[in-house]
Amino acid sequence: MNGNDNPRKPILYYYLAVAAIVLLFNAFIMPGLMSMRVTQVDYGTFLREIENGNVKSVEIVDDAIGFVVVDQHGREQIYATGRLDDPDLVNRLYNADVEFMKVIPRENSPLVNFLVSWILPMLIFIGVGQFLMRRLQSKIGGMGNVMSFGKSNVKVYVEAQTGITFADVAGQDEAKEALQEVIDYLNNPEKYKEIGAKIPKGVLLVGPPGTGKTLLAKAVAGESKVPFFSISGSEFVEMFVGMGAARVRDLFKQAQEKAPCIVFIDEIDTIGKSRTSGGIGGNDEREQTLNQLLTEMDGFEADKGVVILAATNRPETLDKALLRPGRFDRRVPVELPDLRGREAILKVHGRNVKLDSNIDFISIARATPGASGADLANIVNEAALRAVKQGRSYVTQHDLEESVDVVIAGYQRKNAVISMKDKLTIAYHEIGHALVAAKQKNSAPVHKITIIPRTSGALGFTMQLEEDDKVLMSKEEALEQITVLLAGRSAEEVALGVITSGASNDIERATKIARAMVARFGMSETFDMMALETVTNQYLGGDTSLMVSAETAARIDNEVLKIIKACHQRAIDILEENKEKLHELTKHLLEKETLSGDEFMEILNS
Ligand code: ADP
Ligand code: MG
Ligand code: ZN
Repeated sequence: MNGNDNPRKPILYYYLAVAAIVLLFNAFIMPGLMSMRVTQVDYGTFLREIENGNVKSVEIVDDAIGFVVVDQHGREQIYATGRLDDPDLVNRLYNADVEFMKVIPRENSPLVNFLVSWILPMLIFIGVGQFLMRRLQSKIGGMGNVMSFGKSNVKVYVEAQTGITFADVAGQDEAKEALQEVIDYLNNPEKYKEIGAKIPKGVLLVGPPGTGKTLLAKAVAGESKVPFFSISGSEFVEMFVGMGAARVRDLFKQAQEKAPCIVFIDEIDTIGKSRTSGGIGGNDEREQTLNQLLTEMDGFEADKGVVILAATNRPETLDKALLRPGRFDRRVPVELPDLRGREAILKVHGRNVKLDSNIDFISIARATPGASGADLANIVNEAALRAVKQGRSYVTQHDLEESVDVVIAGYQRKNAVISMKDKLTIAYHEIGHALVAAKQKNSAPVHKITIIPRTSGALGFTMQLEEDDKVLMSKEEALEQITVLLAGRSAEEVALGVITSGASNDIERATKIARAMVARFGMSETFDMMALETVTNQYLGGDTSLMVSAETAARIDNEVLKIIKACHQRAIDILEENKEKLHELTKHLLEKETLSGDEFMEILNS
């Protein structure tokens, strides 16, 4: 038992809190308000003021005395003092010729008193509370079909039919195939029951952000024509303490009533984080929620027809208990799309916009290695927006190409002011990248060079396009990549004899490759095939952590430096050999601001 049996408790607490506040209000604040502008003094002061004849009038209430003093400027000030047992008081006042009276406490009717001091504030509080609650709830349930669950006010998104099918999910053929079994089961469970085959209860979709995990889950529901319950991991833990577990319980209860159906838990890593990794104390709320989830998953039979899908991009952080058989024991990778996948995704999204007749999606796919499905959807949409802006009724190839640049590097900063001197440096820098790329045998062909500044802060860029996706990188190719990255700065040195800050990103990327060569790819002689680093989060940026002694770490740095220095020298050598072309190409780029790959090659080979 974990104390959440009455989900209304938070509301009860709320009312108790209101009552407490009203009590405090009546006890302290009200009298305070009433006696505003009244100064408390001691009895002695009271007597002295009477003797000095400054007191104008006195009012005696049960156990207090209020009196009005007139000062030398004629201003009146109200004072109050406690009433002591002073039999002479009346005489004193009479002698001092002070207006005085004893007020006979004139009580309001007790009913009115009660109403004003208890019921009214209570009503106001409840009103405000209800208002806030409603606001909160409407915020949480902003979209979709929101249903209220049982007593706990849990909100879960339910879609009777998602309306999304596998046709909307491009690429991801392996993932689709793995999920096909689930669909088949939901469509005809009898087939499975007859043989006694058990379908996996939980399927975990893992992959980088934007690759279509959520989309796939919806498509599974759409293909099986069953209701789709979805909730995001972060929603479990954001509200009140103790609500997470209640939500889980209600979600499963509701799902079992609606079976067959799909329950989708997005971003499950937010609740499913390994319980040991939280450090001391941990996060009780999250742990409770996770425990409840584990209990619920064990609590129902798979043949009920509830299939639980979950998605995460941090599978390595998940608690082992979640992954054991009978829970999320099936794992479906949803990877970044390859070249064909990217083309297919562009086509799927291209269906929704009006296109020019000669659109070449494959070249756009080539220009976007590493892009996720979400990026590609965004590219198509950017292109459509651009077409609208230009007053056209259809999207052209050029729109798509331009929006690739936008998604990669941001919008053009047309009115950015850059001095001629800086422009020259930037042009040499970009031509440096392109020229060295063209002069090496393994480098991908140059597709585009531009020195139009972008909103991302890029002052220009050189785009290379691989013909096909590369799954392996040879040592030779890695070294060439580093050389190309370092060639921008090298060109500044060779042509102008200056070095600028413009190469910081190149330097960072080059160093990363060099480091991976030494620490992970076994491409250095010193360390041979020794693993020195591990990747800690595969799907989010690929951070790494060293697993070596400090001494070895220093030697790794040395090794990395050696690679960088050699590649830097090589870039300088290539540029020195082709110095004339370097100047000629830079002149062209300065004039035109953007060179296509073909234009570049033409000048280079002329
Ligand atoms: P994830 O959940 O993996 O982060 P989503 O499923 O939310 O990614 O994808 C975001 C959007 O990107 C989708 O709504 C869709 O428009 C687009 N998208 C992603 N992957 C694909 C794909 N394989 N096919 C078509 N569209 C995709
Ligand atoms: Mg998602
Ligand atoms: Zn550069």
